[in-house]
Amino acid sequence: MIALYPGSFDPITYGHLDIILRAAKLCEKVIIVIMSNDEKDGTFSCEERKKMIEQCTSTLENVEIHIGSGLTIDYALKVNANVLIRGVRAVTDYEYEMQLATTNMALNSDIETLFLMAKPEYSFLSSSTAKTIAKNGGDLSYFVPDNVAKELYQKYK
Ligand code: ADP
Repeated sequence: MIALYPGSFDPITYGHLDIILRAAKLCEKVIIVIMSNDEKDGTFSCEERKKMIEQCTSTLENVEIHIGSGLTIDYALKVNANVLIRGVRAVTDYEYEMQLATTNMALNSDIETLFLMAKPEYSFLSSSTAKTIAKNGGDLSYFVPDNVAKELYQKYK
């Protein structure tokens, strides 16, 4: 099973990292793709996000990090992925994730979306919460790895 884990990862948090570690155990290969065609402007450039993810996943041999654009399904076909990985934190994620998964199913029914439930200790964690904490000089140690915390503090200095 080749999995594609798409997202903004702006920046990566311990919640994303947990999903990556668990997906890497389940799948032959996990391709993380930073999708650059979001309407939302990023805080970090795609290259900066990629570098941070690389630093956090360097020990995982079956994980690759890409930057992509266009439809996720098209990207999955391009890299021969047969499964999309998404994380679900709370019921508030459900509607959005269901809409995405159903749309992707309509576009290509051969590619399944596999949902992994967030670990309870990370279920409140998001990139935007980490950014708010960094902006206000709070403690980021529970939210993001050290290299990411450094970049966040630098960004809001
Ligand atoms: P997107 O903008 O595509 O939602 P994100 O980077 O915010 O991109 O999230 C990518 C995926 O990771 C989504 O499926 C999201 O639900 C999941 N995710 C984000 N934070 C967490 C977390 N703390 N625990 C588990 N999954 C998470």
